[in-house]
Amino acid sequence: MDKRKLTIGHLYPDLLNLYGDRGNIQCLKKRCQWREIEAEVICYEIDDPIDFSKLDLVLLGGGSDREQMLVRDKLQEIREDFREYVESGGVVIAICGGYQLLGNYYDTEDGRIEGLGIIDLETERGKDYRLIDNIVLESELSSMPVVGFENHGGRTNIKNNRPFGKVIYGSGNDGKSGYEGVIYKNVIGTYLHGPLLPKNPEICDYLIKKALERKYGETIELKKLDDREEKEANEYIYQRFKGKVSKPQNQEQLV
Ligand code: GLN
Repeated sequence: MDKRKLTIGHLYPDLLNLYGDRGNIQCLKKRCQWREIEAEVICYEIDDPIDFSKLDLVLLGGGSDREQMLVRDKLQEIREDFREYVESGGVVIAICGGYQLLGNYYDTEDGRIEGLGIIDLETERGKDYRLIDNIVLESELSSMPVVGFENHGGRTNIKNNRPFGKVIYGSGNDGKSGYEGVIYKNVIGTYLHGPLLPKNPEICDYLIKKALERKYGETIELKKLDDREEKEANEYIYQRFKGKVSKPQNQEQLV
């Protein structure tokens, strides 16, 4: 059988790349490579045309409010193609600023940033403090807890959508609902930076599996990898935070 191949599109890494979101790309590549799956990464700068029909997995990273404003117009231009990609089962991992931009809008202190409107969710800037802390979740997509770090001013209302996880420690979507992120078709939107995928290998494999299944039209069983170190690190974070209550820091921090 020919070697399987995935094409990963990294959207606007110059503008949307906070706290090591790029590490997610490295992790996807590495876990593909260990299984002899070829992974090609295409980085798109703001003026590059994007042919979504060539992509199997899309990463949209986090960004400051200012950077989100800068990509807004571009996103409106690619909106229909992006929507079609998602509706046809295209795999997307969208982090923080990127997650907010998949929704209808993000209301900031400097006005509204229109989102792609691909998922029916909305974000408003919190009036008091940013939600900054480590975070631990329970997610239907992973047998291990999902661990990461969050730093956002926005409070997201996912309405009737499915959350990515239930918060065990941290704030999540809005600091109140007890839920974090969203799952919509083959899209995961989440506030977890960190980077997310090296810390949570099952989530990484979930994305790879979904992307391969869509591309090759068959059920894929991924070869198991030796994740002892990842599991140990994950367990350490889980033990450190479980049962504790997060107190988001009340500080003005630039994101
Ligand atoms: N600027 C957005 C917020 O503060 C997203 C931040 C981020 O991507 N870390 O909510």
